Amino acid sequence: MTDFPGLKLTNIDMPSSGSPITMRDEGKLIVPNDPVVPFIEGDGIGPDITRAMKMVTENAVYKAYGRNRKIYFWEIYAGEKCNKIFGNWLIDDTLEAIKYFKVAIKGPLTTPVGGGIRSINVRLRQALELYACIRPVRYFDGVPSPLRDPWKVNMVVFRENMEDVYAGIEWPKGSVECMKIRNFLTEEMGVSLREDIGLGIKPISAFGSKRIMRKAIKYAIEQNRSSITIVHKGNIMKYTEGLFRACCYKVAEEEFSGQVITEGEARGKTAESLPDNKILVKDRIADAMFQQILLRPEDYDVIVTPNLNGDYLSDAIAATAGGLGMAPGANVGDEAAVFEATHGTVPKYADLDKVNPTSLILSSAMMLDHIGWKEAAELIVSAVERTIQSRVVTYDLARQMEKATEVSCSKYAETLCQNM
Ligand code: NAD
Repeated sequence: MTDFPGLKLTNIDMPSSGSPITMRDEGKLIVPNDPVVPFIEGDGIGPDITRAMKMVTENAVYKAYGRNRKIYFWEIYAGEKCNKIFGNWLIDDTLEAIKYFKVAIKGPLTTPVGGGIRSINVRLRQALELYACIRPVRYFDGVPSPLRDPWKVNMVVFRENMEDVYAGIEWPKGSVECMKIRNFLTEEMGVSLREDIGLGIKPISAFGSKRIMRKAIKYAIEQNRSSITIVHKGNIMKYTEGLFRACCYKVAEEEFSGQVITEGEARGKTAESLPDNKILVKDRIADAMFQQILLRPEDYDVIVTPNLNGDYLSDAIAATAGGLGMAPGANVGDEAAVFEATHGTVPKYADLDKVNPTSLILSSAMMLDHIGWKEAAELIVSAVERTIQSRVVTYDLARQMEKATEVSCSKYAETLCQNM
C-alpha cells in the first residue's frame, strides 16, 4: 500500500497504487513516473466519455514511455453519483484529493437551472481557487465547420473563473436580502429600481484581472503565441469590465514590457519596424469580437476575458471548429489544475455509448502537456487528427460529413488507440 503523508480522507479509500505529484515553492510541478490522477466520472454521458478518455490516455502513455511511466487514475466523487453514494453533491474528500494530488480530470456535472443546488463546477472552481479557465480551440482537418476557411481557427481563451456575475452573489426576488439591497440602492444611492426584481452583483477586482492576464501572457510566451486580445464590455460596464481592460494593459506594460507590445505602441509603426519577437496586446469590445471570430479568425490567438464573456465566447469559437464535442478545457489555479470537457452532460444520450469523447480526450492531452509528458500528449492529438481525416467519427460529426463512418463513443476511442 502506497503511503500518502498528510492526506486526510473521511469517506473514500486512499489510492491503492501510485505516487503524488508535488510542487516546488515557485509553483513548478514535480511529477513521478507513476502519478495518481484523481478523476470525477461526471453525470449523464460522463461515464461513457471518461471510460474512453482513460483508455486513450493509458494507451498514449504506454506507447510513449513503455513500462517506464504509468498514470494511476483514482476515482473521486462529485455530482449525481456522489449524491447517490454519500447523500451530498460534493464531499470534502474531493476537494482535499485535488488539492493534494495537484492535477485532476472531470466529466461534466448537472446543474439545475434556477433554484436547487448551486453549480458544483462553480463550487469546485471557487473552493480550489481555479481562477483561469483555459480553452484552446483549433481546427482539425476534415471536421465540419460553418466557416469558409476553418483552418484559420487556432485560439486559446483565458476566461477569468472566479469573479463577475458568476461569483454567485445574488438574491431571489422578494427575499429579505434582495429588498435590503434594493432599499439601500434606492434610498441612499438614488438609483431607481422596480420592486419585483432579483438582484446579482458583478464583482471584478484589479487583483483578479491582473492575475488572469499574467497567466495568459506567460502562456503566450511559453507557447510562442503571436497576440493576446483583451475582450471586454468596458464601454458600457466602465467600472467592472473597463477596470478589467485597464488592469490587463497595466500588467502587460509594467511586468512584461520586454516581451509584449501594445496595439497603441505599435500604431503608426510600419510592419517592418515592429519587433517580430514581441507579442501584440490589443483589446476588442465583446460584441464586436463575436463578429471577428467568424470573419477574421486568423487575427486572434490568445484571448483574455472576464467570466461571462469567456463562457459565451469559448462555446462560439468551439462551434467554428467542430462544436462542443471537440473543444478541451482546463481550470487552473496556482495550487491545482482540473481538466474537463467543455460541454455538459447531454442527458438524452446518457449511457448510450454514442457521444463524441474528443473534448475530454483532448483535455487529457492538455493535462499530459501540463505535467510535462509532451510525447504522450502529442500522440493523442495526432491520433485525433488521423482518425478524423479517415472519417471515422461519432454521430455529431458523421451527420455533417460526407462518406463518414459513424462509430460509437467506445469504438471511436479504440480507433484512436489503433491510430496512435
Ligand atoms: P450540453 O453540452 O450537455 O448539450 C448541448 C448540446 O450539445 C447537446 O444536445 C448535443 O447536441 C451537443 N453536445 C454536447 N456535447 C457533446 C458531445 N460530447 N458529443 C456530441 N454532442 C455533444 O449542454 P446543456 O444541454 O445546456 O446542459 C446539460 C447539463 O449539463 C446541464 O445540467 C448543465 O448545467 C450541465 N453542464 C455542465 C458543464 C460542466 O460540467 N462543465 C458544462 C455545461 C453544461
